Amino acid sequence: MHDLNAVEYDRLLAEAEAVKKHEAVRVQTLPLCDMCKGFTTKAHYDCKTTDGPWGYLCEKHFRSNGMGLGLGLGQRLILED
Ligand SMILES: [Zn+2]
Repeated sequence: MHDLNAVEYDRLLAEAEAVKKHEAVRVQTLPLCDMCKGFTTKAHYDCKTTDGPWGYLCEKHFRSNGMGLGLGLGQRLILED
């Protein structure tokens, strides 16, 4: 049995809050970015894109093509630990 430190506790609280607001989802493994050439970069978002369809986006493509976070927009992917 180990105690969570304060930083870890705050992170978990923030994540739980984001999940509740549909701004984040927990995943077992991170998918690869749909927009990176060669699909080599891990995606951190499942998000509606400026082109219309949804896709898995890395940090860079989320900033350039993501519509945002929330219900109907997109979710940040949180890796289960
Ligand atoms: Zn990308």
